Amino acid sequence: METVTDAKGAWQECMKHIQGRVNNLSYKTWFEPVVPVSLDSESLVVKVPSQFFHDWLEEHYSSVVNESVKLVMGENARVEYTISEEDMSDSEPQFYRPPQPGQASQQHFTATKLTAKPPFESNINPRYTFDNFIKGDSNQFARAAAYAVANNPAGTSFNPLVVYGGVGLGKTHLIQAIGNFARQSGKAERVLYVSSERFTVDFVDAIQKDRANEFSNFYRSMDILIVDDIQFFAGKEKTQDNFFHTFNALHQSGKQIILSSDRPPKELKGVDDRLVSRFTWGLTVDVQPPDLETRIAILRKKSEDDGIHMPEDVIEYVAANVTSNIRELEGSLISILAKASLNNREISVDLAKEVVRSLAVSRKTAVTVEDIQKIVADVFDVTEEQLRGKTRKSEIVIARQTAMYLTKELTQLPLKTIGSQFGGRDHSTVIYACQIISDQLANDDRFREKYDRIKKKIEMIGM
Ligand code: ADP
Ligand code: MG
Repeated sequence: METVTDAKGAWQECMKHIQGRVNNLSYKTWFEPVVPVSLDSESLVVKVPSQFFHDWLEEHYSSVVNESVKLVMGENARVEYTISEEDMSDSEPQFYRPPQPGQASQQHFTATKLTAKPPFESNINPRYTFDNFIKGDSNQFARAAAYAVANNPAGTSFNPLVVYGGVGLGKTHLIQAIGNFARQSGKAERVLYVSSERFTVDFVDAIQKDRANEFSNFYRSMDILIVDDIQFFAGKEKTQDNFFHTFNALHQSGKQIILSSDRPPKELKGVDDRLVSRFTWGLTVDVQPPDLETRIAILRKKSEDDGIHMPEDVIEYVAANVTSNIRELEGSLISILAKASLNNREISVDLAKEVVRSLAVSRKTAVTVEDIQKIVADVFDVTEEQLRGKTRKSEIVIARQTAMYLTKELTQLPLKTIGSQFGGRDHSTVIYACQIISDQLANDDRFREKYDRIKKKIEMIGM
């Protein structure tokens, strides 16, 4: 065996072993995108494109990888993974995404110019660009408006720009693309992306720590402020009040504000009128579900980008049958790929049918309120009756609020229905419960662990 001194050489040797042990498609899908980073006597560090990718490798290929590394580098050798920074800022569900050659994320970060004002994390995912946002009738206008704003932040009458529409239709992608473009082209320096929930949590935190001023100054120092999913400002009066002043300050000093929402601003409930009226000062655009041609174009582009050959009939089948949104289209693609790769099968319409069917099943066997109540009661050691009952004992209240929150998260039920399933409470009680729990999730690690455990249990039901 030749001696290997550098990471690249070592990994190449490993790859030779791996190639002989896994099928071709798996090799292409799960190993070619891995990039060797560094090497010392015992560990080889490699970079993978995402957390999802890492978990997948660990779960399915760890023995193959470990064996090859030992063969190449010796008995004590091991592989360590790092996740591409491109993926780190991504809080969305992870889908397979190989690295794009020549698009090293580090460059991206070091390229940010330092100013007199302190540096900060912009929270923008470099992956969301205009280049990979596919145009169709459903999003053409929104894209054009976003592009205009990116080219001339605060210089158009589109201030604020509000993008609204259903889930998975590209709102987050589009509003972050503005940030990416504006920064890269030097049109703006300080660009910040936050979800309205993040804004809320940070605000509450700042108040508690007596740092409200710092908080306000920070937000007001931006050239572009992007706030995602503003519908979650509903009912949070103090936060809204602060956001109102932040908005005014930015607007007055000629800074760009970009917002997204799941509905048009005028239909926002629980949001102060004066704020809603500000939202309509600029331009409001919507994104609609993609039509068939756009769905086909998206699937083609995504499989191309991932270096995967998807037969045309498979693309057409998926496009014709997964119609709800773009996130599900992506999800289907990755499932098909994963299935083909794991079971050593060809990518075919039959395989696509299985995947699409199981997607449809998982949607239909959506969990019920009863399922949620049963599992929550079990984990919190209370009874289901208590969850629906009147007790105000704190252990029961927290269990009840958790169950309400989970019901809102995991079902499509309107708040009113959720309330009625919990002993005939009204929808404002549900909103309140959801606020309490989302704060708790943001601030209490142990609670979040417990919550995640419950959520996993519930999600297993449909499987
Ligand atoms: P939303 O914020 O509206 O729920 P996202 O922006 O998170 O939706 O989009 C969901 C996924 O679909 C993301 O991975 C995004 O990159 C992708 N996506 C959405 N619209 C497009 C598009 N027009 N072209 C390519 N990818 C898209
Ligand atoms: Mg979004």
